[in-house]
Amino acid sequence: MQLDFTPAEIAFRDEVRSFLRDALPDDLRQKMVDRAHLGKDDIVRWQRILNARGWAVTHWPAEYGGQQWTPTERYIFQEEMALAHAPEGSPFNVNMIGPVLCRFGTPAQKERFLAATANIDIWWCQGFSEPGAGSDLASLKTSAVRDGDHYVLNGQKIWTTQAQHADWMFGLFRTDNSGKQQQGISFLLLDMRTPGITVRPIETIDGEHDANEVFFDDVRVPVENLVGEEGRGWDVAKNLLGNERSGIARIGLSKERLSQLRALEAQLTASGELAEEERHVLARKLAEVEVDLRALELTQLRVVAADAHGGGANAAASILKVKGTEMQQRMTELVTELAGPAGLAMPQAGGRTNDPDEGWVGAAAPFYFTMRKVSIFGGSNEIQKNIIAKTLLGL
Ligand SMILES: Cc1cc2nc3c(=O)[nH]c(=O)nc-3n(C[C@H](O)[C@H](O)[C@H](O)COP(=O)(O)OP(=O)(O)OC[C@H]3O[C@@H](n4cnc5c(N)ncnc54)[C@H](O)[C@@H]3O)c2cc1C
Repeated sequence: MQLDFTPAEIAFRDEVRSFLRDALPDDLRQKMVDRAHLGKDDIVRWQRILNARGWAVTHWPAEYGGQQWTPTERYIFQEEMALAHAPEGSPFNVNMIGPVLCRFGTPAQKERFLAATANIDIWWCQGFSEPGAGSDLASLKTSAVRDGDHYVLNGQKIWTTQAQHADWMFGLFRTDNSGKQQQGISFLLLDMRTPGITVRPIETIDGEHDANEVFFDDVRVPVENLVGEEGRGWDVAKNLLGNERSGIARIGLSKERLSQLRALEAQLTASGELAEEERHVLARKLAEVEVDLRALELTQLRVVAADAHGGGANAAASILKVKGTEMQQRMTELVTELAGPAGLAMPQAGGRTNDPDEGWVGAAAPFYFTMRKVSIFGGSNEIQKNIIAKTLLGL
């Protein structure tokens, strides 16, 4: 198996690198370095810069603005983005609803939404989870009852990230209660300004307001906003959830964080803040992380290589999700450890600090807390382990 990049891939990497050097605004890069909070404006601004270069929605079909990159080129792009401290675009637009509309949307839906989604003129949120339907998503209850050329929605969604900023929601609603749970679910698009929608904030343990509860009270949604067939929304949702593949472990991000940890180690050693014994302990921990990260990277590259040759990488995605998120969490644990007591303070007003003077120490605690979520969303790690047990180990 060939795991080294070819000369063409190296040339591609250099092209990406030089674009990012020139195009990424300094203030955005600095926010990423400081782990500061990125607002909607930051993400919109960057996604539009990428879109102008043709690189916002690279994995969409070419006719809708995608690039026909190989899995390896995609991997290189993601890694370079992380190493350059470039933010990701909106995952709801880029990785979730966009590809689904390319595949299942009507011509009218494609015309209306795709270009606006790529350029983030529409900010989407995802309405899947409900209080009684998280891992067991098929047990969702929020109803959509047909009334002429509309569906009428009643019920509640939860954990809806960024719903407070969203223009539109894509979500799953129950259109039929008879038969198997999965069969009566429909995939709908809805304008968040429709009367009857209430968005209520959830403050998470990092002090941020990213997640929300969303309530539906006789919300009328035109039938033309149905994606796919009525009652077959489960197939659309499965396709959406399976869209993330080669980037799921976010190894570039972890590599960038490891290099920051190395810089911190050097800084603390130079300033004499670490006793000799502490230096040894830290050196050992960093070496362990580096070895594990390298092993994960090789696994990811094997998956990318298999994918490039039509090898089907699906089964390994769960391993990458579990190990990749564990790695991301370990990085935050080490940063918090290094910051010591000063790193335990949470910013007064809640949320991550935007004060550059506080730097990495000020960001340590909120960042530690914010990364707890990565092993929950996108399919919790316990559920991924069940998938590994069943599909890979045959248990
Ligand atoms: C910060 C954050 C943002 C989110 N954003 C969104 C969003 O934008 N849109 C959206 O629709 N959803 C979103 N989610 C919801 C997320 O997808 C769910 O939290 C996730 O699917 C888990 O569901 P649950 O919280 O209901 O937990 P539960 O399903 O109740 O699970 C609780 C615990 O039990 C474990 N468990 C459950 N079933 C099994 C099993 N069969 N075997 C072993 N262990 C099991 C779980 O792994 C978990 O540890 C978000 C969640 C978080 C935390």
